[in-house]
Amino acid sequence: MTYRAPEAAPASRIAEERRGAVQGRFCNACGSVYALFASRHTGKPLHGKDHIAAPCVHEGDRFVDGEDWWEPAVAVLPPPPPAEPQGEGSAAS
Ligand SMILES: [Zn+2]
Repeated sequence: MTYRAPEAAPASRIAEERRGAVQGRFCNACGSVYALFASRHTGKPLHGKDHIAAPCVHEGDRFVDGEDWWEPAVAVLPPPPPAEPQGEGSAAS
C-alpha cells in the first residue's frame, strides 16, 4: 500500500491545532476532495468514493468562494505531544 499524500479532511471537522496545509476542496454533498487547481466540481476527486451510484448534485458546479456546499480540505496533522510537566510549580507567581 502506498501512502503518497496526507489524507485531507474538511477544515471544520478538524481541531484547529491539527489543521495542516490546504490540500483541496471538500464537497459536503458527496464527501469527495477535489484539487485546488480544479475550479469546478468535475472529473476525478483526489479522495472520494470510486463507485458513486448517482452523480453529485454539484457535479459541474464552480467552486465559488462563500458557497456553503464546499469548504477547504486540509491535511490532518498528528496530534500534538502531550505537554510534559517540567519544573512545574518552581516558578510560582
Ligand atoms: Zn460533490
